[in-house]
Amino acid sequence: MSVLQQTAQHRQCRHGNPRALNTTTLPPATDTSSHAHQALREVFGYASFRGPQQAVIDHVVAGGDALVLMPTGGGKSLCYQIPAIVRQRAGQGTTIVVSPLIALMHDQVGALHEAGVRAAFLNSTLDADEATRIERQMVRGELTLLYAAPERVTTPRFLAQLDAMAAQGRLSLFAIDEVHCVSQWGHDFRPEYRALTVLHERYPQVPRLGLTATADALTREDIVERLQLQGARAFVSSFDRPNIRYTIVEKKDATTQLLRFIESEHEGDAGVVYCQSRKRVEEIAETLCQHGIDALPYHAGLDARVRQDNQNRFLRDEGVVIVATIAFGMGIDKPDVRFVAHLDMPKNIEAYYQETGRGGRDGAAADAWMVYGLQDVVNQRRMIDDSPAGEDFKQVLRGKLDALLALAEATDCRRVRLLQYFGESYGRLACQNCDNCLSPAPIWDATDAARKLLSTIYRVQQVSGISFGAGHIMDILRGKTTEKVTQHGHAEISTFGIGAEFSEQQLRGVLRQLIAIDAVEVDAQAYNTLRLTEGSRAVLRGEVPVRLRASLSGAAAGGGSRRSKSGRSTAARAPVPLDAAAQQRYEALRAWRAEVARAHNLPAYVIFHDATLAAIAQQAPASLDDLQGISGIGARKLEAYGAEVLRVVGA
Ligand code: ADP
Ligand code: ZN
Repeated sequence: MSVLQQTAQHRQCRHGNPRALNTTTLPPATDTSSHAHQALREVFGYASFRGPQQAVIDHVVAGGDALVLMPTGGGKSLCYQIPAIVRQRAGQGTTIVVSPLIALMHDQVGALHEAGVRAAFLNSTLDADEATRIERQMVRGELTLLYAAPERVTTPRFLAQLDAMAAQGRLSLFAIDEVHCVSQWGHDFRPEYRALTVLHERYPQVPRLGLTATADALTREDIVERLQLQGARAFVSSFDRPNIRYTIVEKKDATTQLLRFIESEHEGDAGVVYCQSRKRVEEIAETLCQHGIDALPYHAGLDARVRQDNQNRFLRDEGVVIVATIAFGMGIDKPDVRFVAHLDMPKNIEAYYQETGRGGRDGAAADAWMVYGLQDVVNQRRMIDDSPAGEDFKQVLRGKLDALLALAEATDCRRVRLLQYFGESYGRLACQNCDNCLSPAPIWDATDAARKLLSTIYRVQQVSGISFGAGHIMDILRGKTTEKVTQHGHAEISTFGIGAEFSEQQLRGVLRQLIAIDAVEVDAQAYNTLRLTEGSRAVLRGEVPVRLRASLSGAAAGGGSRRSKSGRSTAARAPVPLDAAAQQRYEALRAWRAEVARAHNLPAYVIFHDATLAAIAQQAPASLDDLQGISGIGARKLEAYGAEVLRVVGA
């Protein structure tokens, strides 16, 4: 008896809900794994599974529930697409993919069509006739995958259709993508996700698979509880993204820093620049354009049409930089994003990691680059303080922000810290692919400066009975007789001028650190004035050393330079080094791909990835047989494009 049959029986006994299993349609392969491998090779043209893919797929094909936590780019899609194919071939019907991303369904489904898979989506972009046609196909069990948003899946109409499918054993699997949206601890909470419990209650016999790239323990527990996935097996893969280089630098003039970063390291590359506000998004996009960078804005305040167009241009054209608020990015599966820049600090490590994770999905080198400063710390704190949430909730948010601040202030390996945050041990002390590993900043013992700063805050409060902001405190410490200092008689304070040897920039660093370790709090309700907290005592007593990176300047602020500007040419850079003849073939292939993509109204990478084109260019295939073994060329693509590709490379 095959695994499929066993599981089907198991489910029948457990839930007393028999479903017909058409054993005659089982393909000849003998077990789940070989069915899955067959689909991997034949449909997607890949030789082997990555990380936990195989384990997840075996478990789900056999009818188990699963929760998959994998970093962006880890290969989550195959974890449900292959079970969908294998189970469909075994006569078990259609997989319903719940996804919050209506705008991306067209491309996701287009990619499956290119691979020869019967897939469709149902959403508001379809006209009534089209929607009815797809609903019919779905109910008749003709589709392998059907994509829909949660708000549609939980409508009475859709549920009635699922009922009909379930009654005939044509409901194979529920794949719930971006499943962290169900949790308020995740950073994309969507109330519609809560209603998805109906799937489990109504169709207990249908396996469910939740997938996400957000995985801190709190969010994970919440997902399990909210969706009643207690029986699901959790598959947590390593969250390391070795090809991403992390760099966090002090913010001075963010716009100039960004320009320098793009011009010196990423000319002509596709990238994402995150900013906090819509206004800033517009300004930065415009500035980049003025400097000859192909940049487009994206934020929720833009006309829906413009927003969609900009997203499409980013996905379809090469080398576009999208400047965006956090409204951008979920589900964007463009593989060749070469950098993600943060001009403002995100609110926690999950958000930072998810956003930076959008770089380098293809496995080639990518940069995660962030500038941050005191103002970011103050702003984020204020947003938490001002939010209408309860005090317990705010406390969780503050804790999460603090973890990010500690990461930003860290002088040791960023990757080690990031992985630690996700409960993973890296196994080494240094990654050699983050700023701190590549160009260790000299460390400055700022304990003395920190104590002087704390004492000043304390004395000022004592003398005047009120608190003051950072600028004034630093003026007193550095002995500057400003109008305000004179007016309040603060030149008489015992700490006046005792910090004259420190620059304002140094003191800002110290203050940031003190806020990060909770020795000082910023009162957003009272003009961002500074106050000591309980935590300051240990620092004042000298029990907590304050160690800072000595001020960053010049080259270090731009991150380690990976390639010189003069080394860049206008020719497309292949993911592997190519000789001159191969480079020529590569460019011809890219031009051909661009035409096909335009004709199919799909992003270029959906036709073939850069890596696949580079492999073709390198191997100079002479026949379809030669093409067959190349990664990324499945049966359908070989049939559809093989002859054309051979012509393009001059075979
Ligand atoms: P995620 O959804 O986890 O962010 P994707 O499913 O988009 O990641 O996969 C990232 C990229 O890796 C895709 O381009 C995909 O085609 C590729 N990929 C996934 N699994 C494999 C595999 N086993 N072999 C080769 N490439 C793979
Ligand atoms: Zn490192």
